[in-house]
Amino acid sequence: MKRKCRIRIARNDFDTVHKHLFPGDGDEHGGVLLAGTSCSNERLTLHVREIHLAREGVDYVAGKIGYRALSPTFIHRLITRARDERLAYLAFHNHHADREVNFSRIDVESHERGYPALLQIARGMPVGGLVFARRAMQADIWLDNGTRHSLDEAIIVGSTVQKLTPSDESNSRDPDPTYDRQVRMFGKAGQDRLASCRVAILGLGGIGSLVAEYLARIGVGQFCLVDPDVVEESNLSRIVGARLSDAQKAVPKVNVSKRVILQANSCARVQLVVDDIAKESAAKRVSSCDYLFLAADSMRARLVFNALVHQYLIPGVQLGSKIRSDSEGRLIDVMSVNRPIRPGHGCLWCNQLIDANLLAREAKTDEERKAQAYGVEEPNPSVISLNAISAAHAVNDFLLDYLGLRKEPDMLHYEQFQLLERRQTLVQPRKDSECSECSKAGLRYGRGDFVALPCVEG
Ligand SMILES: [Zn+2]
Ligand SMILES: [Zn+2]
Repeated sequence: MKRKCRIRIARNDFDTVHKHLFPGDGDEHGGVLLAGTSCSNERLTLHVREIHLAREGVDYVAGKIGYRALSPTFIHRLITRARDERLAYLAFHNHHADREVNFSRIDVESHERGYPALLQIARGMPVGGLVFARRAMQADIWLDNGTRHSLDEAIIVGSTVQKLTPSDESNSRDPDPTYDRQVRMFGKAGQDRLASCRVAILGLGGIGSLVAEYLARIGVGQFCLVDPDVVEESNLSRIVGARLSDAQKAVPKVNVSKRVILQANSCARVQLVVDDIAKESAAKRVSSCDYLFLAADSMRARLVFNALVHQYLIPGVQLGSKIRSDSEGRLIDVMSVNRPIRPGHGCLWCNQLIDANLLAREAKTDEERKAQAYGVEEPNPSVISLNAISAAHAVNDFLLDYLGLRKEPDMLHYEQFQLLERRQTLVQPRKDSECSECSKAGLRYGRGDFVALPCVEG
């Protein structure tokens, strides 16, 4: 039996490929995608980094056996590039179908003739073919360990998230009556998508614990919770579900959120990571998730989260709230923020939301900080109802974007709520085309497991 793989591709890349394949001439077109790879629980995921469109009559020519084929020069240039860049080589073409697609017999025979030789050139990198219909996709990916993988799903990540499969899945189960009132909004298929979605929540303090509660009530089926801290008495004012006994027994925050999640949805699968997201082993655990909620407020956590979004092409959101006072203790700013971060829309780094000085300070040990007279960090003020604004807006965005319910799917804004001024501001994220963390010119974009995350070891 064939194994299944998953493909992640940014919305703007997918649109470019789609326009090339379906220009309205009813003909067949093609090209090559080069993709980073990652492997988790033996499941292969391909993260599209480069697109190479085959020019008609030059790179895409009349075939000797099939109707049309990529030219040998074009194939040779890209298979050697795939080998040198350590990327998977994926040749694509289109069929004129809509919601269901598969390779023809001629396609399969050409894979069997051609791919063993390409595998040898690729020196360990996967090679394969993709076929696109208007709203469906299929893959035939060959690995040098002898396995072949067909497509489970292709995830198109832009401001919204779209899923394509080889055929329409209209076999939705009858929904759990718990979700009756929601199914009226999301539809059965939407509710099913939530049940199979795996989210990571990074930080289970004031904001993250609310996100966990909301997502569990909505029916999200799988969670990966990451936080190194235990409950303290001063957390009881904010952490959903926390009890005095949790503080007395120093129960990890992730355990409290797990309890809350299971109360809302006893079928949920909850994986706990009692560690810092800045640790490599923790970050690796979330690299196969479908959506990331960043509710931890260190600069290192922001840097790692930002890298995960762009290296693995996973949609994410950064949440926070901030209360500032002047030296006399008068409030000067009370703010909640909700910043969706998506490949192709700029990142926390190019929007100057990762402070290099703070990052350097965090890298020092407590001893070093004391010796350098940075002083002891005072805890920041925090209030549950301010956290709730950020958490609720981020979960609403998740629902509308992940289930594809937006009216204007290409809009993406950071939201800031300034409560003292009763003001809500929408900020268009900046995108630096040279950014080393999020642009295709940088080393990280779509690389999957091949480049290291900006983590500390452990
Ligand atoms: Zn074909
Ligand atoms: Zn950037």
